[in-house]
Amino acid sequence: ASGQFSGKIAVVTGAAGTIGLAVAEHLASLGADIALFDLQQDKLEEAATKVRQYGTIVRPYVCDVTDAKRVNSTTEKVVSDFGKIDFLFNNAGFQGAFAPVQDYPEEDFNRVIQINVCGAFHVLQAVARQMVEQKSGAIVNTASMAGVQGPPNMAAYGASKFAIVGLTQTASKDLAPHNIRVNAISPAFMGPGPMWDMQVEKQAKANTQYFSTDPETVAKQMIGSVPMRRYGNISEIPGVVSFLLSDAASYMTGVNLPIAGG
Ligand code: NAD
Repeated sequence: ASGQFSGKIAVVTGAAGTIGLAVAEHLASLGADIALFDLQQDKLEEAATKVRQYGTIVRPYVCDVTDAKRVNSTTEKVVSDFGKIDFLFNNAGFQGAFAPVQDYPEEDFNRVIQINVCGAFHVLQAVARQMVEQKSGAIVNTASMAGVQGPPNMAAYGASKFAIVGLTQTASKDLAPHNIRVNAISPAFMGPGPMWDMQVEKQAKANTQYFSTDPETVAKQMIGSVPMRRYGNISEIPGVVSFLLSDAASYMTGVNLPIAGG
């Protein structure tokens, strides 16, 4: 395929999910070959079929990002299959429970940190080692507006996304001498999709002063807090990611771009 990213190899994690799939399709539409990482073989195969419609090489890899050994061996497999890695969209994530901090379930807290922080670190480290050898690369981590202003009832998720912003800044400094840029995106309320449905429902169930106990009212309350008075469409994310990965952003590193409607 010919395009802005033809000849480029991109790794996308959480690639069977809403945002990961949308970004993988967009990068493929620009000509990139894609390695898709996610947990389940069947969901991955479905995603791969969708991404293949743009005519580039697309390979699915079952990989739990919390398993560092598995991440390393999968990354090695990608390099042996594709020869190199130019781009990483480090995006796998998990929203976790909704409860005030004093009631927040400890097990869930650990799980969210394992996936969102340790998982993102494992993938970033494995791919960065390859990029350091190549002396080039660009990485975009998926943070969240929850990593800029801690939302109520989301102790683990908020903490995990603040960590991603910090990891992005530190990694951008460590990797700058190696010609590797590391940036982040911070979506806020995005829809439609499981994340939107789940967060509206779970914020209602959390039954706190911040939101109604009726999910439809919660949706209105959330949208009412956005200057643009709507949630973001998933299609408004991929262009920001491809911009940060592209040479148009060649002097940008360590940045966290909000995609938040104001
Ligand atoms: P999603 O649930 O549709 O996709 C997440 C994907 O990550 C899933 O396919 C899931 O299987 C995968 N995943 C989870 N744990 C994994 C693991 N251990 N190893 C490998 N893959 C794993 O959600 P999404 O909305 O597409 O979210 C993608 C990213 O965007 C996440 O980091 C999320 O926190 C972030 N985000 C989403 C929103 C939103 O409203 N949708 C807003 C801000 C940030």
